[in-house]
Amino acid sequence: FDMFFLAFVERLFRPTFKKDDFVLGKKLGEGAFGVVYRASLTKKPSSKVPYQKEGDLVLKKATEYGAVEIWMNERVRRACANSCAVFVYGFLESSSNKGAEYWLIWRYEGEATPYDFMQSKEFPYNVETMILGEAQDLPKGLERDNRIIQTIMTQLLFALDGLHSTGTVHRDIKPQNIIFSEGSRTFKIIDLGAAADLRVGINYIPKEFLLDPRYAAPEQYIMSTQTPSAPSAPVATTLSPVLWQMNLPDRFDIYSAGLIFLQMALPGLRSDSGLIQLNRHLKQCDYDLIAWRKSVETRASSDLRRGFELLDLDGGIEWELLTLMVQYKAGQRISAKRCLAHPHFDREGLLVLSLMQ
Ligand code: ADP
Ligand code: MG
Repeated sequence: FDMFFLAFVERLFRPTFKKDDFVLGKKLGEGAFGVVYRASLTKKPSSKVPYQKEGDLVLKKATEYGAVEIWMNERVRRACANSCAVFVYGFLESSSNKGAEYWLIWRYEGEATPYDFMQSKEFPYNVETMILGEAQDLPKGLERDNRIIQTIMTQLLFALDGLHSTGTVHRDIKPQNIIFSEGSRTFKIIDLGAAADLRVGINYIPKEFLLDPRYAAPEQYIMSTQTPSAPSAPVATTLSPVLWQMNLPDRFDIYSAGLIFLQMALPGLRSDSGLIQLNRHLKQCDYDLIAWRKSVETRASSDLRRGFELLDLDGGIEWELLTLMVQYKAGQRISAKRCLAHPHFDREGLLVLSLMQ
């Protein structure tokens, strides 16, 4: 009860918006369940509203799934605000026989996702000053690449740990669903359209069709079939935390994060075809990353060899971490929290984060 009451009170004191308050700008993306635009407020609202500059906002027009997405964003806003893009407001704009249309509004965090950064040959140097500041002492090379990638991974895992600690699984972690926040100079998670809140059973029953097969863990479904179904509407029943422990649904996101880690280290996996091929190979190797590495390393290009060399720095700790993330069985995958406690991360990555906050 109190969770919903708090949500209600919190919302009561926040500014509310309606359709006429927004003017749409450039289209940023279009998926099967919605269209995303850069947007601005039409008129100057009260001074309490911070988003007054042109293009300060992002607006998503979503289908009926928007209801769950609003719910998830409200939840994350209260429970782990730093993990995700700042959510401003969401409402039902219209409802017709074609279905409902929900509008969701966020702060515009910045122009690039890791997907955009990785499109460039400059990666990871095109992210470097943004997350590590100017003056880099290391010469360009493996060590320096490693430091940047390590910092990005730390920020991603930090955000994931925040989500998971509140009982939320994202289920659609991929480079396109992470945004570089120019304000906080960190990567944040976006797009909670497929997320599930396991504590109250919101969007608990997996909608497999929402998942991106290129990044989805082999189990595809969040819960095993033994798990009893939870209510799919917002009902204030608390599910047993045991349920969370039983199937470790959060490890679904860890697998996806592991694939992103691999893509950052190995340029050949960044293209769609490279990623699809990786998935095919992984399946052939029964998702044994070590076997996969053996199979590709024999006929490796110099690019690939360099990537593995990068992962082998620090006496192979990084590679070990990766193998703990990309495991066939969810139960064998490491959690976000344990990733962050891994020796690989107790140096620069976390240091950078703590200096920034
Ligand atoms: P979709 O359901 O279409 O995947 P997303 O929520 O992932 O919608 O948003 C689509 C794209 O819009 C993202 O990949 C990103 O480039 C951009 N975007 C979304 N939210 C923000 C934000 N808060 N700030 C800046 N860009 C954003
Ligand atoms: Mg998306």
